[in-house]
Amino acid sequence: MSRYSFPALALHALRGHQRWSRALRNDAPKPAYDAVIIGGGGHGLATAYFLAKNHGMRRIAVLEKGVIGHGNSGRNTQVVRSDYYHLPSSKFFERSLRLYEGLSRELNYNIMLSQRGKINLAHSPHEMEMQRRTVNAIRMNGVDADMLSVDDLRRLEPALNFKGRYPIEGGSAQWRGGMARHDAVVWAFARAAGKLGVDIVQDCEVTGFRIEHARVSGVETSRGRISAPRVCMAVAGHSSELARRAGIRLPINSMALQAMVTEPIKPLLNHVVISAVVHGYVSQSDRGEVIMGGGADIYHSYAQRGGLPVLEANAQSAMELYPCLGRLRIMRQWAGIVDITPDTSPVMGLTPVQGLYVSGGWGTGGYKAIPAGGETMAWTIANDRPHELITAFGLGRFATGALVDEGAASGVAH
Ligand SMILES: Cc1cc2nc3c(=O)[nH]c(=O)nc-3n(C[C@H](O)[C@H](O)[C@H](O)COP(=O)(O)OP(=O)(O)OC[C@H]3O[C@@H](n4cnc5c(N)ncnc54)[C@H](O)[C@@H]3O)c2cc1C
Repeated sequence: MSRYSFPALALHALRGHQRWSRALRNDAPKPAYDAVIIGGGGHGLATAYFLAKNHGMRRIAVLEKGVIGHGNSGRNTQVVRSDYYHLPSSKFFERSLRLYEGLSRELNYNIMLSQRGKINLAHSPHEMEMQRRTVNAIRMNGVDADMLSVDDLRRLEPALNFKGRYPIEGGSAQWRGGMARHDAVVWAFARAAGKLGVDIVQDCEVTGFRIEHARVSGVETSRGRISAPRVCMAVAGHSSELARRAGIRLPINSMALQAMVTEPIKPLLNHVVISAVVHGYVSQSDRGEVIMGGGADIYHSYAQRGGLPVLEANAQSAMELYPCLGRLRIMRQWAGIVDITPDTSPVMGLTPVQGLYVSGGWGTGGYKAIPAGGETMAWTIANDRPHELITAFGLGRFATGALVDEGAASGVAH
């Protein structure tokens, strides 16, 4: 009987749900592995899963300093989409969205993917022109995108404030964009990786590296030394600090990015709605809470909570778009430490230390990248060369100047 089949659920119900075994692994660290992944967020867990599944590696550990999913992967606003301007980003994020579309089945875990559509508002004729240009580029990249008139928007989002301080002129949409439940994505990858034999080691902080002749041979951790010929850093806002311990300087700034939710209400918002001009975005969760986000707190920080001025600015933006939200109470507010690069594209692949890999710089938009990030990093680690989808995202671009400038892709500037 499979774990969550109807007869299994019925049997557990009859037993008063007293005999469930652990769904997720919580292992003690072993002295040696074939590969160690640092960071139990979505990227680390997905990388471990694909290493085991696609490359047959079995002695793998994910080392997490806290508990899995308590970093940015469990703190984001859950938006998934692939409407990127430049071809390398477009191909990569489209692969990720395709993987998301099959992820519940692949991992046998309902990640609650809701492709409700993501809308970008335009507030001036000039912005409409820019969005047309972007939509054209996205379509040329083979990804779906459409322009929207004001009449379209009135039909799609009737509660929008069309005649406010920033009148709405139209917008654009990616209909396959939407949301997926962030905790479920983390737990799904953790459970699937665990089933393939990956050790998930929590409460285990990596404090340093063992490097001989420019080659990594293991890590120092709060629970002892662990040997491994391949080590991958997937630690988001701690990327630059951790890499520094391996003698590598990463072009990454760590800042707090915050979000908040209101008390739950009946369905009001039908899509994810973003406005670059009011500098905010809103959506409604399946529980009815209105989710609001905006810009990052513009100073370096390792605190997982944002400041009050940005909270206030985000609330103002949301109310500019939907004035009726002003009558709701904020229920929760939080932040994650995001790892932002100069071109806001990720840093993935090899490092100057042999056997040491990096998956970072995910910044404010790496949740949507988790499946493809894991798949391509696993390939890169197994083959010791960058997967074709991530060659543009290597560290080398900061020396050559071949940046992939996706600063405008996040909807609101960071
Ligand atoms: C408020 C907010 C909203 C966002 N909204 C979106 C969105 O709508 N869509 C989107 O695509 N992206 C969004 N993002 C970005 C997205 O959440 C991240 O890019 C993504 O989750 C990064 O995943 P990760 O696995 O790299 O990092 P994380 O999930 O942060 O995982 C890194 C892990 O590494 C661990 N770690 C750190 N240092 C060490 C160490 N020395 N040893 C061991 N473990 C260590 C941490 O504890 C953490 O668990 C948002 C982020 C925030 C904060």
